[in-house]
Amino acid sequence: MRIPILRNASAKTPSADRSDRNPDLRVGIPRILNQWSTPRFWTAFFEELGVKRRNVVYSSATSDAQQKQYSQGRGAVDCCYPVKCISGHYGELLTGLKKPVDVLFSPKVVSLRSFLGSHVVDCLGCPRVMAGPESARGGFVREGDSFAASGVRYVSPVVNMSEPMLLARQLTKALEPVFPGLSHDETLRAIEMGWREQDDFDAESREVAHEVLERCERESRPAILALGRPYHMDPGIGHEIENELQACGYPVIWGQHLPLDTQLLDRLFGKDIRDGSLASHFDISDVWKSSYSANTNELIWAARFGARHPAIAAAVRFSSYECGMDQPTYTPVQKILEARGTLFFSFQDLDATKPSGSVRIRTETISYYLERHSKRIMDRKRALLSGDAEKVRVLSESDE
Ligand code: SF4
Repeated sequence: MRIPILRNASAKTPSADRSDRNPDLRVGIPRILNQWSTPRFWTAFFEELGVKRRNVVYSSATSDAQQKQYSQGRGAVDCCYPVKCISGHYGELLTGLKKPVDVLFSPKVVSLRSFLGSHVVDCLGCPRVMAGPESARGGFVREGDSFAASGVRYVSPVVNMSEPMLLARQLTKALEPVFPGLSHDETLRAIEMGWREQDDFDAESREVAHEVLERCERESRPAILALGRPYHMDPGIGHEIENELQACGYPVIWGQHLPLDTQLLDRLFGKDIRDGSLASHFDISDVWKSSYSANTNELIWAARFGARHPAIAAAVRFSSYECGMDQPTYTPVQKILEARGTLFFSFQDLDATKPSGSVRIRTETISYYLERHSKRIMDRKRALLSGDAEKVRVLSESDE
Protein backbone atom coordinates (compact mmCIF):
# COMPACT_ATOMS: atom_id res chain seq x y z
CA MET A 1 0.00 0.00 0.00
CA ARG A 2 1.38 3.37 -1.03
CA ILE A 3 0.75 6.31 1.31
CA PRO A 4 -0.07 9.48 -0.71
CA ILE A 5 2.82 11.93 -0.59
CA LEU A 6 2.75 14.94 -2.84
CA ARG A 7 1.17 15.45 -6.20
CA ASN A 8 3.66 16.01 -8.98
CA ALA A 9 6.22 17.88 -6.91
CA SER A 10 8.83 16.70 -9.38
CA ALA A 11 6.96 18.01 -12.41
CA LYS A 12 6.92 21.60 -11.13
CA THR A 13 10.46 21.74 -9.83
CA PRO A 14 12.96 23.72 -11.90
CA SER A 15 16.53 22.38 -11.94
CA ALA A 16 18.52 23.86 -9.10
CA ASP A 17 21.85 25.67 -9.66
CA ARG A 18 24.23 23.30 -7.89
CA SER A 19 27.47 24.90 -9.01
CA ASP A 20 28.31 26.14 -5.48
CA ARG A 21 27.91 22.72 -3.97
CA ASN A 22 30.60 20.24 -3.03
CA PRO A 23 30.25 17.29 -5.45
CA ASP A 24 32.12 15.02 -3.04
CA LEU A 25 30.13 15.94 0.06
CA ARG A 26 29.84 13.07 2.56
CA VAL A 27 26.85 12.86 4.89
CA GLY A 28 27.00 10.65 7.98
CA ILE A 29 23.75 9.40 9.53
CA PRO A 30 23.66 7.57 12.87
CA ARG A 31 21.85 4.23 12.51
CA ILE A 32 19.66 4.84 15.56
CA LEU A 33 16.02 4.82 16.69
CA ASN A 34 13.63 5.43 13.79
CA GLN A 35 16.42 5.34 11.22
CA TRP A 36 15.64 1.62 11.34
CA SER A 37 12.33 2.33 9.59
CA THR A 38 13.41 5.15 7.24
CA PRO A 39 16.96 4.54 5.95
CA ARG A 40 15.91 4.31 2.29
CA PHE A 41 14.12 7.61 2.61
CA TRP A 42 17.22 9.48 3.75
CA THR A 43 19.57 7.83 1.27
CA ALA A 44 17.33 8.71 -1.68
CA PHE A 45 16.61 12.17 -0.24
CA PHE A 46 20.29 13.14 -0.09
CA GLU A 47 20.99 11.52 -3.44
CA GLU A 48 18.30 13.69 -4.99
CA LEU A 49 20.06 16.74 -3.51
CA GLY A 50 23.22 15.72 -5.37
CA VAL A 51 25.11 13.62 -2.79
CA LYS A 52 26.55 10.47 -4.35
CA ARG A 53 24.80 7.40 -2.98
CA ARG A 54 28.08 5.93 -1.74
CA ASN A 55 28.68 9.18 0.19
CA VAL A 56 25.57 8.77 2.35
CA VAL A 57 27.21 6.83 5.15
CA TYR A 58 25.51 5.14 8.11
CA SER A 59 27.15 4.17 11.37
CA SER A 60 27.31 0.44 11.99
CA ALA A 61 24.68 -1.38 14.04
CA THR A 62 24.92 -0.92 17.80
CA SER A 63 27.51 -3.17 19.44
CA ASP A 64 29.48 -3.45 22.67
CA ALA A 65 32.69 -2.62 20.81
CA GLN A 66 31.16 0.52 19.27
CA GLN A 67 29.88 1.73 22.61
CA LYS A 68 33.19 1.05 24.41
CA GLN A 69 35.34 2.61 21.73
CA TYR A 70 33.35 5.70 20.81
CA SER A 71 31.09 6.75 23.65
CA GLN A 72 33.56 6.69 26.55
CA GLY A 73 33.04 9.85 28.60
CA ARG A 74 30.35 11.07 26.20
CA GLY A 75 27.40 9.12 27.59
CA ALA A 76 23.93 10.66 27.60
CA VAL A 77 22.14 10.96 30.93
CA ASP A 78 19.11 8.90 30.01
CA CYS A 79 17.76 5.64 31.33
CA CYS A 80 16.39 4.69 27.90
CA TYR A 81 18.90 2.23 26.49
CA PRO A 82 18.34 2.93 22.74
CA VAL A 83 18.84 6.66 23.44
CA LYS A 84 21.97 6.01 25.52
CA CYS A 85 23.48 4.18 22.54
CA ILE A 86 23.30 7.26 20.28
CA SER A 87 26.64 8.50 21.66
CA GLY A 88 28.51 5.48 20.30
CA HIS A 89 27.06 6.10 16.83
CA TYR A 90 28.04 9.80 16.94
CA GLY A 91 31.55 8.89 18.08
CA GLU A 92 31.96 6.34 15.29
CA LEU A 93 30.88 8.84 12.64
CA LEU A 94 33.17 11.53 14.05
CA THR A 95 36.35 9.55 14.56
CA GLY A 96 35.87 5.97 13.39
CA LEU A 97 35.59 6.25 9.62
CA LYS A 98 38.48 5.81 7.20
CA LYS A 99 37.05 8.58 5.05
CA PRO A 100 35.59 11.30 7.29
CA VAL A 101 32.15 12.78 6.75
CA ASP A 102 31.49 16.50 6.21
CA VAL A 103 28.05 16.53 7.80
CA LEU A 104 26.61 14.56 10.68
CA PHE A 105 22.87 14.53 10.08
CA SER A 106 20.73 13.46 13.05
CA PRO A 107 17.09 14.59 12.83
CA LYS A 108 14.91 15.05 15.90
CA VAL A 109 11.85 13.11 14.80
CA VAL A 110 8.61 14.62 16.10
CA SER A 111 6.20 12.64 13.93
CA LEU A 112 6.37 9.66 11.60
CA ARG A 113 4.61 8.63 8.45
CA SER A 114 2.35 5.64 9.07
CA PHE A 115 -0.07 3.50 7.07
CA LEU A 116 -2.43 3.99 10.05
CA GLY A 117 -2.30 7.78 9.57
CA SER A 118 -5.97 8.59 8.97
CA HIS A 119 -7.24 5.82 11.27
CA VAL A 120 -5.56 7.05 14.46
CA VAL A 121 -5.38 10.25 16.50
CA ASP A 122 -1.75 11.09 15.63
CA CYS A 123 1.59 9.61 14.51
CA LEU A 124 4.03 11.14 17.00
CA GLY A 125 7.48 9.86 17.88
CA CYS A 126 8.39 9.03 21.47
CA PRO A 127 9.47 12.18 23.41
CA ARG A 128 12.81 10.52 24.08
CA VAL A 129 13.27 9.93 20.35
CA MET A 130 12.56 13.63 19.77
CA ALA A 131 15.07 14.73 22.40
CA GLY A 132 17.63 11.92 21.99
CA PRO A 133 19.92 13.63 19.44
CA GLU A 134 20.10 16.74 21.62
CA SER A 135 21.06 14.84 24.75
CA ALA A 136 23.72 12.90 22.78
CA ARG A 137 25.10 16.12 21.29
CA GLY A 138 25.61 17.41 24.83
CA GLY A 139 28.26 14.75 25.43
CA PHE A 140 30.23 15.95 22.41
CA VAL A 141 30.29 19.68 23.23
CA ARG A 142 30.75 19.46 27.01
CA GLU A 143 34.51 19.89 26.96
CA GLY A 144 34.93 21.67 23.67
CA ASP A 145 33.11 21.20 20.38
CA SER A 146 34.09 17.75 19.08
CA PHE A 147 32.15 18.30 15.84
CA ALA A 148 34.15 21.43 15.00
CA ALA A 149 37.39 19.71 16.08
CA SER A 150 36.68 16.94 13.55
CA GLY A 151 35.70 19.43 10.83
CA VAL A 152 32.15 18.09 10.82
CA ARG A 153 29.02 20.21 10.53
CA TYR A 154 26.33 18.97 12.91
CA VAL A 155 22.82 19.27 11.44
CA SER A 156 19.92 18.19 13.62
CA PRO A 157 16.60 19.68 12.55
CA VAL A 158 13.26 18.98 14.17
CA VAL A 159 11.34 16.99 11.55
CA ASN A 160 7.67 16.15 11.12
CA MET A 161 7.93 13.20 8.77
CA SER A 162 4.14 12.92 8.51
CA GLU A 163 3.68 16.44 7.07
CA PRO A 164 5.50 16.86 3.73
CA MET A 165 5.09 20.63 3.36
CA LEU A 166 6.24 21.31 6.92
CA LEU A 167 9.03 18.75 6.52
CA ALA A 168 10.22 20.54 3.37
CA ARG A 169 10.36 23.86 5.26
CA GLN A 170 12.24 22.28 8.17
CA LEU A 171 14.78 20.55 5.94
CA THR A 172 15.29 23.49 3.58
CA LYS A 173 16.08 25.76 6.51
CA ALA A 174 18.43 23.27 8.17
CA LEU A 175 20.24 22.17 5.01
CA GLU A 176 20.55 25.44 3.05
CA PRO A 177 23.96 26.15 4.65
CA VAL A 178 25.13 22.73 3.40
CA PHE A 179 23.50 22.97 -0.05
CA PRO A 180 23.77 26.65 -1.08
CA GLY A 181 20.70 27.85 -2.98
CA LEU A 182 18.54 24.93 -1.79
CA SER A 183 14.92 25.80 -2.54
CA HIS A 184 11.69 24.64 -0.97
CA ASP A 185 10.68 22.96 -4.27
CA GLU A 186 13.97 21.13 -4.54
CA THR A 187 13.55 19.80 -1.02
CA LEU A 188 9.96 18.78 -1.77
CA ARG A 189 11.14 16.84 -4.78
CA ALA A 190 13.86 15.13 -2.74
CA ILE A 191 11.23 14.20 -0.14
CA GLU A 192 9.09 12.66 -2.85
CA MET A 193 12.04 10.65 -4.17
CA GLY A 194 12.85 9.57 -0.62
CA TRP A 195 9.37 8.26 0.08
CA ARG A 196 9.20 6.54 -3.29
CA GLU A 197 12.29 4.51 -2.50
CA GLN A 198 11.20 3.80 1.08
CA ASP A 199 7.75 2.71 -0.13
CA ASP A 200 9.28 0.35 -2.70
CA PHE A 201 11.48 -1.19 -0.03
CA ASP A 202 8.55 -1.54 2.41
CA ALA A 203 6.35 -3.06 -0.31
CA GLU A 204 9.05 -5.66 -1.08
CA SER A 205 9.43 -6.56 2.62
CA ARG A 206 5.67 -6.91 2.99
CA GLU A 207 5.48 -9.05 -0.14
CA VAL A 208 8.14 -11.41 1.22
CA ALA A 209 6.28 -11.61 4.55
CA HIS A 210 3.05 -12.39 2.69
CA GLU A 211 4.69 -15.26 0.80
CA VAL A 212 6.18 -16.68 4.00
CA LEU A 213 2.84 -16.54 5.82
CA GLU A 214 1.01 -18.14 2.89
CA ARG A 215 3.55 -20.94 2.70
CA CYS A 216 3.41 -21.52 6.46
CA GLU A 217 -0.37 -21.74 6.37
CA ARG A 218 -0.35 -24.06 3.38
CA GLU A 219 2.19 -26.37 5.03
CA SER A 220 0.70 -26.03 8.55
CA ARG A 221 4.03 -24.73 9.75
CA PRO A 222 3.99 -22.13 12.56
CA ALA A 223 5.45 -18.65 12.10
CA ILE A 224 6.35 -16.25 14.92
CA LEU A 225 5.42 -12.57 14.99
CA ALA A 226 8.10 -10.24 16.42
CA LEU A 227 6.54 -7.22 18.11
CA GLY A 228 8.85 -4.35 18.92
CA ARG A 229 9.92 -0.89 17.88
CA PRO A 230 11.92 -0.49 14.66
CA TYR A 231 15.25 -0.35 16.52
CA HIS A 232 14.69 -3.76 18.09
CA MET A 233 15.87 -5.02 14.68
CA ASP A 234 19.26 -3.52 15.61
CA PRO A 235 21.37 -6.52 16.76
CA GLY A 236 22.79 -4.45 19.64
CA ILE A 237 19.35 -3.37 20.90
CA GLY A 238 17.23 -6.48 20.23
CA HIS A 239 20.16 -8.90 20.77
CA GLU A 240 19.22 -10.91 17.66
CA ILE A 241 16.68 -12.97 19.59
CA GLU A 242 14.70 -13.39 16.36
CA ASN A 243 17.72 -15.15 14.84
CA GLU A 244 17.79 -17.62 17.73
CA LEU A 245 14.13 -18.38 17.06
CA GLN A 246 14.72 -18.78 13.33
CA ALA A 247 17.57 -21.14 14.14
CA CYS A 248 14.97 -23.35 15.86
CA GLY A 249 13.21 -23.59 12.48
CA TYR A 250 10.46 -20.98 12.87
CA PRO A 251 10.14 -18.13 10.35
CA VAL A 252 9.98 -14.81 12.21
CA ILE A 253 8.04 -11.87 10.74
CA TRP A 254 8.48 -8.38 12.19
CA GLY A 255 5.25 -6.47 12.78
CA GLN A 256 6.70 -3.65 10.66
CA HIS A 257 6.68 -5.92 7.59
CA LEU A 258 3.22 -7.44 7.79
CA PRO A 259 1.35 -7.55 4.47
CA LEU A 260 -1.32 -4.92 3.90
CA ASP A 261 -3.11 -6.16 0.81
CA THR A 262 -6.84 -5.76 0.85
CA GLN A 263 -7.82 -9.36 0.11
CA LEU A 264 -5.88 -10.68 3.08
CA LEU A 265 -7.09 -7.91 5.39
CA ASP A 266 -10.68 -8.63 4.29
CA ARG A 267 -10.18 -12.23 5.27
CA LEU A 268 -8.86 -11.22 8.72
CA PHE A 269 -11.07 -8.23 9.54
CA GLY A 270 -13.99 -8.33 7.06
CA LYS A 271 -16.48 -9.95 9.43
CA ASP A 272 -15.81 -7.33 12.15
CA ILE A 273 -16.27 -4.52 9.63
CA ARG A 274 -19.54 -6.01 8.39
CA ASP A 275 -20.95 -6.42 11.89
CA GLY A 276 -19.89 -2.86 12.78
CA SER A 277 -17.31 -3.68 15.46
CA LEU A 278 -14.48 -2.23 13.34
CA ALA A 279 -14.66 0.87 11.14
CA SER A 280 -11.90 -0.34 8.78
CA HIS A 281 -9.04 -2.83 8.41
CA PHE A 282 -6.85 -0.39 10.32
CA ASP A 283 -9.22 0.60 13.10
CA ILE A 284 -7.68 0.09 16.58
CA SER A 285 -9.93 2.51 18.46
CA ASP A 286 -11.79 -0.29 20.27
CA VAL A 287 -8.58 -1.50 21.95
CA TRP A 288 -6.34 1.62 21.94
CA LYS A 289 -8.02 4.96 22.48
CA SER A 290 -4.86 7.03 23.03
CA SER A 291 -3.56 6.41 19.53
CA TYR A 292 -1.01 9.25 19.46
CA SER A 293 2.25 7.35 19.05
CA ALA A 294 3.05 6.03 15.55
CA ASN A 295 5.14 3.07 16.70
CA THR A 296 2.72 2.12 19.48
CA ASN A 297 -0.26 2.26 17.12
CA GLU A 298 1.47 0.04 14.60
CA LEU A 299 2.48 -2.39 17.33
CA ILE A 300 -1.11 -2.70 18.57
CA TRP A 301 -2.35 -3.19 15.00
CA ALA A 302 0.32 -5.84 14.36
CA ALA A 303 -0.78 -7.70 17.50
CA ARG A 304 -4.33 -7.68 16.17
CA PHE A 305 -3.17 -8.98 12.76
CA GLY A 306 -1.08 -11.67 14.49
CA ALA A 307 -3.97 -12.73 16.69
CA ARG A 308 -6.06 -13.48 13.59
CA HIS A 309 -3.63 -14.86 11.04
CA PRO A 310 -3.72 -18.68 11.18
CA ALA A 311 -0.02 -19.10 10.40
CA ILE A 312 1.07 -17.02 13.39
CA ALA A 313 1.05 -19.46 16.28
CA ALA A 314 3.13 -17.30 18.64
CA ALA A 315 4.14 -13.69 19.17
CA VAL A 316 7.27 -12.47 20.91
CA ARG A 317 7.31 -9.01 22.43
CA PHE A 318 10.51 -6.93 22.64
CA SER A 319 10.89 -3.95 24.94
CA SER A 320 13.84 -1.92 26.14
CA TYR A 321 14.87 -1.08 29.66
CA GLU A 322 12.48 1.23 31.52
CA CYS A 323 10.48 2.13 28.43
CA GLY A 324 7.64 4.26 29.70
CA MET A 325 5.95 4.19 26.28
CA ASP A 326 5.70 0.41 26.32
CA GLN A 327 4.45 -0.05 29.90
CA PRO A 328 0.76 0.67 29.19
CA THR A 329 0.77 -1.58 26.12
CA TYR A 330 1.92 -4.83 27.75
CA THR A 331 -1.51 -5.97 28.95
CA PRO A 332 -3.54 -4.96 25.83
CA VAL A 333 -1.05 -6.60 23.47
CA GLN A 334 -1.02 -9.83 25.47
CA LYS A 335 -4.82 -9.86 25.77
CA ILE A 336 -5.33 -9.22 22.04
CA LEU A 337 -3.10 -12.17 21.16
CA GLU A 338 -4.29 -14.62 23.77
CA ALA A 339 -7.97 -13.88 23.06
CA ARG A 340 -7.64 -15.98 19.90
CA GLY A 341 -5.27 -18.52 21.39
CA THR A 342 -1.96 -17.19 20.00
CA LEU A 343 0.96 -17.99 22.30
CA PHE A 344 2.51 -14.88 23.82
CA PHE A 345 6.09 -14.47 25.12
CA SER A 346 8.04 -11.37 25.98
CA PHE A 347 11.61 -10.17 26.37
CA GLN A 348 11.35 -7.00 28.43
CA ASP A 349 14.01 -4.75 29.95
CA LEU A 350 16.48 -5.38 27.10
CA ASP A 351 19.62 -3.35 27.75
CA ALA A 352 23.36 -3.63 27.20
CA THR A 353 23.53 -7.07 28.77
CA LYS A 354 23.12 -9.91 26.32
CA PRO A 355 22.11 -12.79 28.59
CA SER A 356 22.86 -15.54 26.03
CA GLY A 357 22.15 -18.38 28.49
CA SER A 358 18.73 -17.14 29.50
CA VAL A 359 17.83 -16.21 25.91
CA ARG A 360 18.69 -19.79 24.88
CA ILE A 361 16.52 -21.28 27.65
CA ARG A 362 13.62 -19.04 26.71
CA THR A 363 13.85 -19.72 22.97
CA GLU A 364 13.92 -23.45 23.76
CA THR A 365 10.79 -22.95 25.87
CA ILE A 366 9.05 -21.13 23.00
CA SER A 367 10.11 -23.91 20.66
CA TYR A 368 8.78 -26.56 23.07
CA TYR A 369 5.36 -24.88 23.28
CA LEU A 370 5.18 -24.49 19.51
CA GLU A 371 6.03 -28.14 18.94
CA ARG A 372 3.27 -29.20 21.32
CA HIS A 373 0.52 -26.73 20.51
CA SER A 374 1.02 -25.05 17.14
CA LYS A 375 -1.11 -27.46 15.10
CA ARG A 376 -4.12 -27.06 17.37
CA ILE A 377 -3.61 -23.26 17.57
CA MET A 378 -3.44 -22.92 13.80
CA ASP A 379 -6.47 -25.20 13.23
CA ARG A 380 -8.49 -23.25 15.78
CA LYS A 381 -7.56 -19.88 14.25
CA ARG A 382 -8.55 -21.18 10.81
CA ALA A 383 -11.88 -22.37 12.21
CA LEU A 384 -12.43 -18.98 13.88
CA LEU A 385 -11.87 -17.22 10.56
CA SER A 386 -14.17 -19.50 8.64
CA GLY A 387 -16.86 -19.23 11.32
CA ASP A 388 -16.84 -22.98 12.08
CA ALA A 389 -18.16 -22.73 15.64
CA GLU A 390 -18.33 -26.48 16.21
CA LYS A 391 -14.70 -26.99 15.26
CA VAL A 392 -13.68 -24.06 17.46
CA ARG A 393 -15.59 -25.66 20.36
CA VAL A 394 -13.96 -29.06 19.88
CA LEU A 395 -10.47 -27.59 19.54
CA SER A 396 -11.02 -25.35 22.56
CA GLU A 397 -12.15 -28.32 24.65
CA SER A 398 -9.11 -30.36 23.63
CA ASP A 399 -7.06 -27.51 25.08
CA GLU A 400 -8.56 -27.87 28.58
S1 SF4 B 1 9.82 4.14 22.97
FE1 SF4 B 1 10.80 3.52 24.88
S2 SF4 B 1 12.71 2.50 24.27
FE2 SF4 B 1 11.98 3.74 22.56
S3 SF4 B 1 13.03 5.70 22.74
FE3 SF4 B 1 11.04 5.89 23.73
S4 SF4 B 1 11.45 5.44 25.90
FE4 SF4 B 1 13.18 4.67 24.71
